Formats: sequence, C-alpha cells, structure tokens
Amino acid sequence: MATPAEPAAHAEGRAEFQARVHAWFAANAPRKGSSADFSAVHIVSARTPEQFHAQEQHAIAVTRDWQRRLFDAGLAGRSWPAECGGHGAPAWQDDVVAEEQARWGVSTKMFAVGLEMVPAVLFGHGTAEQRATFLPPIVRGEHSWCQLLSEPGAGSDLASVQTRATPVEGGWSVTGQKVWTSNAGCSEYALLIARTGRKEDGRAGLSCFAIEMTQPGVEIRPLRQISGGYHFNEVFLDGAFVPEGGLIGGLGDGWAVLRTMLASERAAIGGGTSARSANELVGLAKRLGHADDPGVRDLLAQAAIRERTLDLLRARIAAGHPVPAAGPTTKLLYSEHARLSADAATTILGMATTVVDDATSAPWIERLLFAPGLRLGGGTDEIQRNTIAERGLGLPR
Ligand SMILES: Cc1cc2nc3c(=O)[nH]c(=O)nc-3n(C[C@H](O)[C@H](O)[C@H](O)COP(=O)(O)OP(=O)(O)OC[C@H]3O[C@@H](n4cnc5c(N)ncnc54)[C@H](O)[C@@H]3O)c2cc1C
Repeated sequence: MATPAEPAAHAEGRAEFQARVHAWFAANAPRKGSSADFSAVHIVSARTPEQFHAQEQHAIAVTRDWQRRLFDAGLAGRSWPAECGGHGAPAWQDDVVAEEQARWGVSTKMFAVGLEMVPAVLFGHGTAEQRATFLPPIVRGEHSWCQLLSEPGAGSDLASVQTRATPVEGGWSVTGQKVWTSNAGCSEYALLIARTGRKEDGRAGLSCFAIEMTQPGVEIRPLRQISGGYHFNEVFLDGAFVPEGGLIGGLGDGWAVLRTMLASERAAIGGGTSARSANELVGLAKRLGHADDPGVRDLLAQAAIRERTLDLLRARIAAGHPVPAAGPTTKLLYSEHARLSADAATTILGMATTVVDDATSAPWIERLLFAPGLRLGGGTDEIQRNTIAERGLGLPR
C-alpha cells in the first residue's frame, strides 16, 4: 500500500505536525500500562533456547506489525527520501514521531539497527542502488537487521576482527565467528565487518558488507548467560555468501563505515527516550518513605543532573549546534543515568526488587537488569570516555 499523499507535509509547522501525530497515536496506540502495552517487547530474556526463539519471534512479529502501521499512516521514515520509502521531510519530524511513540505502550526497538544504523551507513557510504534495495523493506517493517561486529578476540578493539571475506565468483565468501549478536535469529540481514586485507594491516584491512542471515553458511547459536537466561547469540559463518552489491563503501573502507555505524548507534542509544525516570523515582521515594534518605537523595540528584544534561545536549544537537563527540557523550550520560536510576530504585524498593510479580517493582526490575548491559553495548563506558577525551577534547591518546 502506498503512503498517503500529504501535499502540506513539508509546509506543516511543528505544532501542527505534533498535533496530527498525537491524534493518530491516541487513536491507534495502546496506552502504557494497559494489557496491550508492548513497549518492553524487545527485552527478550528466556530460560531455554526454545523459549528464547519463541519470544524473539513474538517480539519481531509485534514490531513488524507496528512498523507497518506507522508506514501505512505515513509516519515512518519521515526524513528518508521518497525513493527509499520515506517522505523527504525535515529531520525534526522523525524526532516528533519518536517522542510521541515513547509516550505510548509501543516500541520499534527490535528494528533499531535497520531504522538507525543501516540508513546512517548507506547514506554515508552506500550507493543509490543499495539505498533503494535495502531501505524500503526496513521502513515497511519487512526486514529486520542485526550487527555482526564483535568477536571473541575483538570487542572494544574491532581493529582485531578476524572473520575473513574472500573474493569468489560474483561476490565474497565469509568465514569466521561473531559473538554477542542481538536479534540474530530474527533478522533477514546483518551489517558485517570482515577482514579483506592482511591481519597486519589492522583497520586498513577491514570492509563492511550487507549479509543475508537466512542462508546455509550462517549458523546461529543462542548464548546462555550467567543469569541462566538467553538474550544474545554466537554466529558462525562458514562460507556464507555476499553478492558483489553487498560491499558497502570501498574495499578496505570498513573502518570509516564502522565509525559512522558506531556514531549512529551511540547517538541512537543516547537519544533514547527512556531516560525519564528521575521524577517517577522521586514519587516512588516519597510514597515508600525514602524521601529523606541521604543516599537516595544523592542518587536521584545525580540521575536528574544527567537527565537534564541529556535534554540540553539533545536540544543543541536538534538545533544544529556543534556538539563535539556527541554520540559518545550522550551514550555515556544515558548509561550513567540508567545505572544511577537502577541503584536508586533498588535502594527504595529494597527486597521488593526480587519480586518479579509485584506491580510496584516489576517496571523497575527490567530496567535494573538492563542497566549493566547499557554500559557495554555500543561500546563500553571506558571506550566512550577515551573517545570524548581524544575527539571531543583533543587530548593525547
Ligand atoms: C546489550 C548488549 C548488546 C550487544 N549487541 C551486540 C550486537 O548486536 N552485535 C555485536 O557485534 N556486539 C554486540 N554487543 C557486544 C558489545 O559491543 C561488546 O560487548 C563491547 O564492545 C565490549 O567488548 P567486549 O565484550 O569484547 O569487552 P572488551 O573489549 O574485552 O573489554 C573488557 C573491558 O576492558 C575495557 N577496555 C577495553 N579496551 C579499553 C581501552 N582501550 N581503554 C580503556 N578500557 C578498555 C572495557 O571498557 C571493558 O570494561 C552487545 C553487548 C551488549 C552488552
């Protein structure tokens, strides 16, 4: 189905657009906390590989359906060009939709790689043909993407990637092992970093590819975590094929593509809309008699400072002002905010944090369990600090 025609879309002012978006969500989206709320559907944490598979399939189906509804309503990919399935509208319209979306019991987080990282990479380094091929199925909710970056010997130090792509007739043959891959089992495609040059060439020997996940040379094994649950996968590539058109950027340009990908990932995580918990926590502290506890007050103040700083930074970025090392700075603030809020929630709730079916603690337990992962995913806090120091402040390595 084509996106609805909207002759006034580009002339539409912010308030007018906001009102139109709000009205659509009010008519179509479940409320937060209602029985139909699926805003946490992306937090898949299962006890067995079978449960993990079933939960992932459910999460992706719900997300596909919602993304398709956004697309049909003309609210998906607002700033993407028409030939990529979008509307060519100003970028602030994407922010308006994301802000409204965060208020409702809905989520497109399972599609984060496709909606955020893939366009950043393809607009920065891809060809017009790649954009026209890969982007429309994402915006229509048909294709989900994941990232094949980390390896057992290459996490923070991605220059050590060993997975190798060798030229074969019509494209590339890929062999190696990836780890910590989120959503591998429910994605049609992945952004892959592989070595096409010599190991000694480090960064210069890397290239980026779009690889199909549902092919015989790709084996996905769910990883059992220390908690006993499953969230990630190992991915074994054994002669997996990438056609020539799957090379993104030039041969050996993988490091530049990776920098674009990671910057967009960090900006996407840091620009996330869940860092809004300080006020909620103040209410909870008052209700449960912890408002005078100096430890709680300190944590809440620290969380509120990060929340406010994030808001101000986002406003500067949205207004087009230069913010040095914007992605790493917002990602680091976001991760610190999550840790401080989780610590405050644990102190306020006490033993109730261990009771998963308690209505007061349940919404906090998910955030509590997710906070440590935020310090690592998309690059660890230490790596963000290094990047801020070197690229933001111009300090020596
Ligand atoms: C929720 C989540 C989702 C993820 N999803 C994906 C995914 O979809 N695809 C994917 O490819 N990967 C994914 N990852 C993996 C993630 O990118 C890596 O865990 C991360 O980059 C760190 O790599 P590592 O685990 O190998 O740790 P290491 O790089 O081994 O780091 C170990 C410790 O050493 C520190 N350290 C390392 N180098 C330096 C340095 N130069 N200076 C200071 N300190 C340093 C780190 O900060 C860390 O504390 C995910 C991780 C999480 C937690």
